[in-house]
Amino acid sequence: MNAAPLFVVAGPTAVGKGTVVRRLREMHPQVTLSISVTTREPRPGEVDGVDYIFVSDAQFDRMVDNGDLLEWAMVHNQNRYGTPAAWVDEQRENGLPVLLEVDLAGARQVKRKVPGCRSIFIEPPAWEDLQRRLLSRGTETLEEQARRLRTAREELAAAGEFDVVIVNHDVDRTAVELAEAMGLN
Ligand code: 5GP
Repeated sequence: MNAAPLFVVAGPTAVGKGTVVRRLREMHPQVTLSISVTTREPRPGEVDGVDYIFVSDAQFDRMVDNGDLLEWAMVHNQNRYGTPAAWVDEQRENGLPVLLEVDLAGARQVKRKVPGCRSIFIEPPAWEDLQRRLLSRGTETLEEQARRLRTAREELAAAGEFDVVIVNHDVDRTAVELAEAMGLN
């Protein structure tokens, strides 16, 4: 039996990926979103096992050594994030399409390891939109904002590596376009 499809969604910080993916899942609840493992501290309101699986550096090291992660990356030069491979395999074997929302380095690893996966890049209408969103979010320090903007520039340059590029003018429209790119109707 063929496994259900795997989709990987990437895009620069503050482009609104999280909101688009949430909207997509309201429209298509059969799509399962992988819960990543991370070494970063939980933010207020985040729940372990729901938003992320929060682990220590030592636990993350062990998962890497054991080959438990389909991909992993250090994001914004700060914390490590990774996708548990067994969970993804299990969902797909049970016929459930899986969506991964990862950074560019992670997306590149998944594309290499899973040739049949479909990759989608979400980009802002203009650089200024991204800048405005990141600054108005107000959740990062100035230093962190600058770091994220540097990463965003590098990430935007990689859009051409993806199967589909969607410009996020409007969350609802982008979610519909994402669903179309995933073959969901
Ligand atoms: P945040 O700390 O804001 O929750 O996430 C920061 C970034 O980490 C997001 O832009 C997201 O794309 C990336 N990320 C989240 N989970 C994973 C993962 O499992 N693997 C990789 N490579 N990146 C991830």
